[in-house]
Amino acid sequence: MQHTESSNTASNRTKVPYITVFGVLILIIVFFVLWRPLNLDRTTYIPLTQQVQTTVIEREPLPAVVGNAAIEIVDDNTANEPKLTESSDQPEDDIVQDEIDKVIAQEDNSVQYTVGRGDTLYGIMMQYGVNRSDIYLLTEQYKQLANLRIGQVISWTTDSDHNLNSFTWIISNNNVRIYERVGDKFTERTETREGVWEPFSVSGEIDSNFIADAKNLGLTSNEIATITKALQWQLDFRRLKKGDKFSVLLSREMLDNIHENSQLLAVRIRNGSKDYYAVLAEDGHYYDMNGGSLSQSFLRYPLVKQARISSAFNPRRLNPVTKKITPHNGVDFAVSRGTPVLSVGDGEVVIAKYSGSAGNFIAIRHGRQYTTKYMHLDKILVRAGQQIKKGDQIGLSGNTGRSTGPHLHYELHIDGKPVNPLTASLPVSDGLTGKSKTTFLEQFKDIKTKLAFATEKASLVSTTP
Ligand SMILES: [Zn+2]
Repeated sequence: MQHTESSNTASNRTKVPYITVFGVLILIIVFFVLWRPLNLDRTTYIPLTQQVQTTVIEREPLPAVVGNAAIEIVDDNTANEPKLTESSDQPEDDIVQDEIDKVIAQEDNSVQYTVGRGDTLYGIMMQYGVNRSDIYLLTEQYKQLANLRIGQVISWTTDSDHNLNSFTWIISNNNVRIYERVGDKFTERTETREGVWEPFSVSGEIDSNFIADAKNLGLTSNEIATITKALQWQLDFRRLKKGDKFSVLLSREMLDNIHENSQLLAVRIRNGSKDYYAVLAEDGHYYDMNGGSLSQSFLRYPLVKQARISSAFNPRRLNPVTKKITPHNGVDFAVSRGTPVLSVGDGEVVIAKYSGSAGNFIAIRHGRQYTTKYMHLDKILVRAGQQIKKGDQIGLSGNTGRSTGPHLHYELHIDGKPVNPLTASLPVSDGLTGKSKTTFLEQFKDIKTKLAFATEKASLVSTTP
């Protein structure tokens, strides 16, 4: 016994290097065997909209980039593990909400979305941080949800932990599908609306402010919100003056003489001597009177060149220490101190100051629906109230506030809700072309007549022999 042990010990000593090498090899093999299958769902999925893609694509498509830069996205499945940058991103200052914000802001935990080109249900809901397994559950159970069409309106509600409660799909005006969470599955019911869609038009003048005056003429908050969103890049509604005119064309669904839903067909606003039009096209988007875009385009990220992402957007991030969900409402770019930070779009600086654990902090308002936030900056190069253009340098990245290393924390909010800036559908500035433009321009002739102000109609009548 004694003898055997001592000889074993002796031979173990000579085996140590071999065991180490062998152990490392085993680890490498185990890593490769486990890693690939574990990450399948992260890297690939079958898109849900049939009309868009037919092949398997990356779950998170690489964002459109400035120049030829590419973003390296760190696995967001590691969200429960400590981050390279553990920082707090809570500024003490928040953007002051005005009347128009209140009209636009949707009910808490409810999101309404118009399906656009290239959208998938999975992609849409992921950018709003809906619990991934709930999206799978719903789409696995109801394969027909792969048939979303451009221009259709979907909406959903979540609980405070981003679990999906209900989902509504408006296929057409008289075919609305509602999916509700019951235990560990969803139920489906179809509502056939028996309402009659009727045209509704109003025309008025600014007396106090647009919201109040439009409400006086019978427009609902939702209708006013749609109008301010459609023209958000053309017009600052706060600058409308007494005597400015507006004309609105709607289609309203009447159910027992009560109006249930409505669709904005066209709006015209005259600010001073300038006319602004937003007209609905077949694709569900609004265009100007020539079929041109009403939108601004955005940069995908606020940097000149590529940067590694040290912490991804994760509204369900679990704090490794407290085990509590502490949302990460933006993305962290690992950039060295002094890296130029750019505004992702045209806009107005609303906050530019040192603000608690966010350090040097900039918030920019773009149109009415979009705001962006930039934190932990080394230097701020703009001031509140300043108008800026897409690509303008607004600051230098840094490590200020509560931050353990130099990085840029960047947030994008749509309708007051944080979304994943790398996957969010950003406004596109493409106008109509080809056949859709021809159709649009043909239809606009009739719409233009309907949007004429009373004074113009009178002069038309008086000059007609
Ligand atoms: Zn961050």
